[in-house]
Amino acid sequence: MSWHVLGAGSLGCLWAARLARAGVPVQLILRNPARLAAYQRAGGLSLVEQGLARRYPVPGQTVDDPQPIRRLLLACKAYDAESAITGLAPRLAPGAELILLQNGLGSQEAVAARVPQARCIFASSTEGAFRDGTAPEGEWRVVFAGQGHTWLGDPLDDHPPLWLSDLERSGIPHQWSPDILSRLWRKLALNCAINPLTVLYACRNGGLSEHSAEVATLCAELGQLLRSCGQPAAALDLHAEVQRVIQATAANYSSMHQDVAQGRRTEIAYLLGHACATAQRHHLDLPHLAALQERLLQYLDARGLPSH
Ligand code: NAP
Repeated sequence: MSWHVLGAGSLGCLWAARLARAGVPVQLILRNPARLAAYQRAGGLSLVEQGLARRYPVPGQTVDDPQPIRRLLLACKAYDAESAITGLAPRLAPGAELILLQNGLGSQEAVAARVPQARCIFASSTEGAFRDGTAPEGEWRVVFAGQGHTWLGDPLDDHPPLWLSDLERSGIPHQWSPDILSRLWRKLALNCAINPLTVLYACRNGGLSEHSAEVATLCAELGQLLRSCGQPAAALDLHAEVQRVIQATAANYSSMHQDVAQGRRTEIAYLLGHACATAQRHHLDLPHLAALQERLLQYLDARGLPSH
């Protein structure tokens, strides 16, 4: 059975290349005929691992190809996920399964609501990849920059799908995780405690050691939020982990910092925005988190970047 991968971006290409080289049938879905033609002219995608580039001529197709879809990896940004799945909904075969790779929370629910006939599996990944825009192959050249792990789970059904064996075969490190929501909430909370402040203070992660009181206050509010929305395990020792992450990644720029520095749209609505919206729904007063969101929105607005 063929896999379809929507989003020939960093993670989409990383997954497609590994599946293809293990002999798993896979098709890449591109936005429109012009993007498909550009992809075909490049001769497929290239994956750079440990400095070595290898080309994978994974077949491509557009969103309106007639081929039915049974297994789809949705590998676009959170803000594109709902519209992307709406375009593909007519192609989903009965019993289709979707893997949602989006960071943060909120987009998964929006996707699931659009395709109630499909099984939606949520994923949380620590793998790192980026598109190497400087190469002649341009956007279709992806650098595998950070080994990591992907947790997969279905909040509505804890039975692991049979195709996990395809991931095994393809060397994609993964684990079936019945508590995927807890994992996604924990990652979201870590993100909220670190990324917005690195944007506002224009610093690397390590720069936040100079703002430790502010970080501690945010962690206390985020812990309150997690406990109130039924995720007490995600709140355990949050502040200690945030401090560990700040130290361990002191030299790095956060993903949100990189997005803003390069003038790219951020996924804020699915991270800090989702945290603040959930707090409001639970009638929780979290003044520091709300003020952080306000400051970040003003900052993005001043640079002409979207706030959603
Ligand atoms: P990316 O490099 O920007 O790739 C997204 C791709 O989706 C782009 O190629 C885009 O096409 C495509 N796309 C969007 N809407 C589409 C549509 N309607 N039809 C067809 N293609 C469409 O993004 P990414 O870095 O892989 O990130 C994907 C998700 O994974 C994000 O939520 C991110 O936070 C998460 N994540 C990423 C990493 C990482 O290291 N990259 C790590 C962990 C988690 P165009 O190029 O035509 O716009």
